[in-house]
Order: sequence, then C-alpha cells, then structure tokens
Amino acid sequence: TCENNLLVVENLSVNMRNSREKLICNLHFSIPQGEVFGLVGESGSGKSLTATVILGMLSKSLEVTSGSVKLGQSEITSLSERELRKIRGQDIAYLSQNYQSFFTPFIKVGKQFIEIIRCHTDMSKKEAKKVAIHWLDKVHLPAERVFNSFPDELSGGQLQRASIASAIMFRPKLIIADEPTTALDVLTGERILDLLCELKEELNCSILLISHDLKHIINRTNTVGVMYGGNIVEMGKTSAVVSEPIHPYTKLLLQSRLKLNKHIPHVLPTMLGEPGLVAKEGCPFSKRCPSVMKSCDKVVPVNTLNNHHFAACHLVNTEREEQYVTR
Ligand code: SF4
Ligand code: MG
Repeated sequence: TCENNLLVVENLSVNMRNSREKLICNLHFSIPQGEVFGLVGESGSGKSLTATVILGMLSKSLEVTSGSVKLGQSEITSLSERELRKIRGQDIAYLSQNYQSFFTPFIKVGKQFIEIIRCHTDMSKKEAKKVAIHWLDKVHLPAERVFNSFPDELSGGQLQRASIASAIMFRPKLIIADEPTTALDVLTGERILDLLCELKEELNCSILLISHDLKHIINRTNTVGVMYGGNIVEMGKTSAVVSEPIHPYTKLLLQSRLKLNKHIPHVLPTMLGEPGLVAKEGCPFSKRCPSVMKSCDKVVPVNTLNNHHFAACHLVNTEREEQYVTR
C-alpha cells in the first residue's frame, strides 16, 4: 500500500521559532491515491496548521522542527518558494472558508478565470474561456451567466463553487479543503461537500478534508485522524473510529454529535474544562478527560493497538495489561 500513497506525513513537528513549545507534535498519516482523509478536532488543535505545512505556506514565525511531508516524490519541507508556488498552482488545490476573498471584486468572474489560466498556460483568450466554461459547468453552475457576472452578483454557494472550479482546473493530485462550508448554510455546505466527492471521482485525486464537525467527515472519508492539542490522538478507518472509538476525546466528540442530532438545544458538546486547554506534560487531554488517571499528567501515552486503528491513551494500555494478567 505504500507505493500508492500520494501524501505521506511522517513525524512532523512544528514549533514557534526559537521556542520548545510544539504546536504540532510528531504527526504521522498518509493519504492513498484517490482516497479522502479527514482531520477532525476543535479549532486550535492544529488542523489548519497541518494544511499550511503541506502547502508550504508556514508563517515565518513558525518552524518545522522534525519530520517530512512527501507529495509523490517531492519533499515539501525542502522545496524552494518557486517550486512550492508551482505545486500550489497545479498539484495541490486549496479551498478554505474564505471563498469571498478568492475573487477580486469589480472584475468579472470570467475575466479572472482567463487571467489565472493564461498565467499557467499559453492558451489564447478564446481557448481559456472554453476551459473556464467547462469547469464552471463541472461544478454545476450556470456557466455562461457566472462567467459574465461580478463576484458580488453571486450567492455564497455559487462563489464557493466558482472558487472550487478555479482551484481544480489544472487537475490537482490533492485537494485540501479546510472547513470549506463554515461560511455557508447547512444545506449549501452539504452540497459543496458532495460536489467535492463527485469531483474526486472525476479527477481521480485525493482529498484532505478538515473540519471541526464530525458530521462532515463521517460519510465522506475513508480514514480519519482526530486531533487534539497538536496531536493525532486517534486514527483509523472512519467506520471503525465512529463505531468503536477508543480515545475519550473521540468518544466525547461522537456523544456531543449524537446529542445535537436529537435536537436537544441546551445540550451542547459537554466537554470538561475549556476548549483548547492542552496539558503541557503527559497526555495533552488530561486536563479535560473524564477518565483521567494518576499517570496521565506525567506519562505521554503512545499510539497503541495496530496500524489500522490506533489511539494514544493510557486506558488502552491498561486494558491490555489487564488482559495479559488474566491470561
Ligand atoms: Fe484520558 Fe489519560 Fe487517556 Fe489521556 S491518557 S485520554 S487523560 S485516560
Ligand atoms: Mg482551522
């Protein structure tokens, strides 16, 4: 399976420059060709930062202190800015919630498409228009009308679709979708995610889908990584993680989702302590964990179970030890 991995992230850590504090801690995950990988967790857990590293757009105040990010044969962390720009334009498409700022106001959408296309190719304006119309049509927009519209004449959903069309025109190998539906109403957002999955088939690309909300991840991803405090605390086939969660944080995420499902308005995600409260020593979740034990704030839990579904939690080890004892 290693050969068909498009993206391989190994042992990746990111710190504030000249600081020992890790913002991302020893991340390991890979995305096979043609698959969708989900990263889920609260805001501030390091999801977007991970995307930033993959895009080679890490801010100057941060530094990669260990690890590697490989897209195909390219080691992202050691490419020049020029090489990165090429990869961002062609191999990786990036979608965010800020689709409003994707297009310049007061310039017709079509004109902006043509500029982008002619910046990457030597097509004539006429050929470029054909390409633009083709992709606007692929994202199920009334292509001619959108082409001739100004950005502020389009709805949020239409603008997000147009930005997707523009991002995928060069047939990227990887689409990074970082909370692409946050600024949209629920139904429009669902349709955008469905569109992404449809385009994945069309382009035969891979997707990194980032969301704070498990419901976006559950039926759309092959594999999911649950992030907390810069760590992936649980990872596995999405179906396995959802049906048999191991880590207490994953369980809480799933529970809060079930409660929301039942339309009990006053029961919002019941987490202990403040969101984003990360323990500096031991298990990062120990300050909020309902199952916290004595050793948790001293000893860092390591990933256990097997390669296909793991969690970093001392409970897993304890249960295992007990199993060994009784055997
Ligand atoms: Fe909770 Fe301890 Fe497991 Fe961390 S290691 S998730 S604090 S039980
Ligand atoms: Mg984010």
